[in-house]
Amino acid sequence: MGDCIFCKIANGEIPAATIYEDEEFRVILDLGPATRGHALILPKTHAANIYEMPDELVGKAMILAKKMAVRMTQALGCDGFNVVQNNGEAAGQTVFHFHMHLIPRYEKDGAMVSWKPGKLTDETREELLEKLK
Ligand code: 5GP
Ligand code: ZN
Repeated sequence: MGDCIFCKIANGEIPAATIYEDEEFRVILDLGPATRGHALILPKTHAANIYEMPDELVGKAMILAKKMAVRMTQALGCDGFNVVQNNGEAAGQTVFHFHMHLIPRYEKDGAMVSWKPGKLTDETREELLEKLK
Protein backbone atom coordinates (compact mmCIF):
# COMPACT_ATOMS: atom_id res chain seq x y z
CA MET A 1 0.00 0.00 0.00
CA GLY A 2 2.18 2.83 -1.35
CA ASP A 3 0.10 5.72 -0.05
CA CYS A 4 -1.11 4.31 3.28
CA ILE A 5 -0.13 6.75 6.03
CA PHE A 6 -0.20 4.12 8.77
CA CYS A 7 2.05 1.80 6.71
CA LYS A 8 4.54 4.65 6.52
CA ILE A 9 4.28 5.46 10.21
CA ALA A 10 4.39 1.80 11.30
CA ASN A 11 7.52 1.20 9.22
CA GLY A 12 9.28 4.37 10.35
CA GLU A 13 9.10 6.27 7.02
CA ILE A 14 7.10 9.04 8.70
CA PRO A 15 8.08 9.92 12.26
CA ALA A 16 5.53 9.43 15.05
CA ALA A 17 5.63 9.52 18.84
CA THR A 18 6.40 5.84 19.45
CA ILE A 19 5.81 4.34 22.89
CA TYR A 20 6.45 0.71 21.91
CA GLU A 21 7.89 -1.17 18.94
CA ASP A 22 8.66 -4.77 18.04
CA GLU A 23 9.09 -6.69 14.78
CA GLU A 24 5.39 -6.71 13.98
CA PHE A 25 3.87 -3.64 15.64
CA ARG A 26 4.43 0.00 16.47
CA VAL A 27 2.40 1.78 19.15
CA ILE A 28 2.12 5.55 18.68
CA LEU A 29 0.39 8.45 20.39
CA ASP A 30 -2.79 9.49 18.58
CA LEU A 31 -2.58 12.98 17.02
CA GLY A 32 -6.16 13.74 18.01
CA PRO A 33 -6.40 12.10 21.42
CA ALA A 34 -9.75 11.36 23.06
CA THR A 35 -7.97 11.51 26.42
CA ARG A 36 -4.45 12.01 27.81
CA GLY A 37 -2.33 9.10 26.59
CA HIS A 38 -4.62 7.87 23.76
CA ALA A 39 -2.44 5.58 21.64
CA LEU A 40 -2.77 3.36 18.57
CA ILE A 41 -1.44 -0.13 17.91
CA LEU A 42 -0.39 -0.38 14.25
CA PRO A 43 0.70 -3.64 12.59
CA LYS A 44 3.72 -3.11 10.31
CA THR A 45 2.09 -5.10 7.50
CA HIS A 46 -0.92 -3.64 5.72
CA ALA A 47 -4.42 -4.92 6.40
CA ALA A 48 -7.30 -2.50 5.88
CA ASN A 49 -9.39 -3.90 8.72
CA ILE A 50 -9.98 -6.89 10.99
CA TYR A 51 -11.46 -8.92 8.14
CA GLU A 52 -8.14 -8.73 6.30
CA MET A 53 -5.93 -9.38 9.32
CA PRO A 54 -4.32 -12.83 9.62
CA ASP A 55 -5.73 -14.64 12.69
CA GLU A 56 -2.32 -14.99 14.32
CA LEU A 57 -1.65 -11.25 14.06
CA VAL A 58 -5.07 -10.41 15.53
CA GLY A 59 -4.18 -12.59 18.49
CA LYS A 60 -0.82 -10.89 18.91
CA ALA A 61 -2.44 -7.44 18.65
CA MET A 62 -4.84 -8.31 21.46
CA ILE A 63 -2.04 -9.62 23.66
CA LEU A 64 -0.13 -6.41 22.99
CA ALA A 65 -3.24 -4.37 23.85
CA LYS A 66 -3.32 -6.08 27.24
CA LYS A 67 0.38 -5.45 27.83
CA MET A 68 0.01 -1.78 26.89
CA ALA A 69 -3.11 -1.39 29.04
CA VAL A 70 -1.21 -2.64 32.09
CA ARG A 71 1.85 -0.51 31.35
CA MET A 72 -0.10 2.66 30.52
CA THR A 73 -2.41 2.31 33.51
CA GLN A 74 0.60 2.07 35.81
CA ALA A 75 2.39 4.97 34.16
CA LEU A 76 -0.57 7.33 33.82
CA GLY A 77 -2.62 6.39 36.86
CA CYS A 78 -5.81 6.28 34.79
CA ASP A 79 -9.04 5.01 36.33
CA GLY A 80 -10.21 2.83 33.43
CA PHE A 81 -9.23 1.80 29.93
CA ASN A 82 -11.01 1.35 26.58
CA VAL A 83 -9.66 -0.89 23.81
CA VAL A 84 -11.52 0.12 20.64
CA GLN A 85 -11.18 -1.10 17.08
CA ASN A 86 -13.27 0.32 14.21
CA ASN A 87 -13.93 -1.42 10.88
CA GLY A 88 -15.49 0.45 7.97
CA GLU A 89 -16.74 3.99 7.56
CA ALA A 90 -20.10 3.12 9.12
CA ALA A 91 -18.24 2.05 12.27
CA GLY A 92 -16.22 5.26 12.45
CA GLN A 93 -13.05 4.06 10.75
CA THR A 94 -11.24 6.96 9.08
CA VAL A 95 -7.80 5.44 8.40
CA PHE A 96 -8.05 2.20 6.46
CA HIS A 97 -5.08 0.39 7.96
CA PHE A 98 -6.04 -1.84 10.90
CA HIS A 99 -5.41 -0.21 14.26
CA MET A 100 -6.49 -0.61 17.86
CA HIS A 101 -7.22 2.41 20.00
CA LEU A 102 -5.80 2.33 23.52
CA ILE A 103 -7.76 4.95 25.47
CA PRO A 104 -6.88 5.60 29.10
CA ARG A 105 -9.96 6.79 30.96
CA TYR A 106 -10.16 9.18 33.87
CA GLU A 107 -13.10 9.90 36.15
CA LYS A 108 -15.34 12.46 34.46
CA ASP A 109 -13.02 12.86 31.42
CA GLY A 110 -16.07 13.39 29.22
CA ALA A 111 -14.67 11.22 26.39
CA MET A 112 -17.38 9.70 24.20
CA VAL A 113 -16.90 5.97 23.83
CA SER A 114 -20.52 5.10 24.42
CA TRP A 115 -23.94 4.55 22.85
CA LYS A 116 -27.57 4.92 23.81
CA PRO A 117 -28.82 1.44 24.75
CA GLY A 118 -31.72 0.18 22.65
CA LYS A 119 -34.03 -2.71 23.52
CA LEU A 120 -33.62 -6.32 22.41
CA THR A 121 -37.13 -7.47 21.55
CA ASP A 122 -38.16 -11.15 21.61
CA GLU A 123 -38.63 -11.08 17.84
CA THR A 124 -35.21 -9.61 17.10
CA ARG A 125 -33.51 -11.94 19.57
CA GLU A 126 -35.00 -14.98 17.82
CA GLU A 127 -34.13 -13.64 14.38
CA LEU A 128 -30.56 -12.92 15.42
CA LEU A 129 -30.11 -16.29 17.11
CA GLU A 130 -31.23 -17.94 13.88
CA LYS A 131 -28.77 -15.92 11.82
CA LEU A 132 -25.80 -15.82 14.13
CA LYS A 133 -25.66 -19.00 16.15
P1 5GP B 1 -10.25 5.56 13.26
O1 5GP B 1 -11.28 6.66 13.24
O2 5GP B 1 -9.87 5.15 11.86
O3 5GP B 1 -10.61 4.39 14.12
O4 5GP B 1 -8.99 6.18 13.96
C1 5GP B 1 -8.02 6.91 13.30
C2 5GP B 1 -7.21 7.60 14.38
O5 5GP B 1 -5.97 7.95 13.84
C3 5GP B 1 -7.84 8.89 14.90
O6 5GP B 1 -7.96 8.80 16.32
C4 5GP B 1 -6.85 9.98 14.48
O7 5GP B 1 -6.73 10.99 15.44
C5 5GP B 1 -5.58 9.20 14.30
N1 5GP B 1 -4.67 9.70 13.28
C6 5GP B 1 -5.01 10.02 12.00
N2 5GP B 1 -3.92 10.38 11.31
C7 5GP B 1 -2.87 10.29 12.18
C8 5GP B 1 -1.46 10.55 12.04
O8 5GP B 1 -0.95 10.94 10.98
N3 5GP B 1 -0.70 10.33 13.14
C9 5GP B 1 -1.23 9.90 14.33
N4 5GP B 1 -0.38 9.72 15.34
N5 5GP B 1 -2.56 9.66 14.48
C10 5GP B 1 -3.35 9.86 13.42
ZN1 ZN C 1 -1.26 0.40 5.54
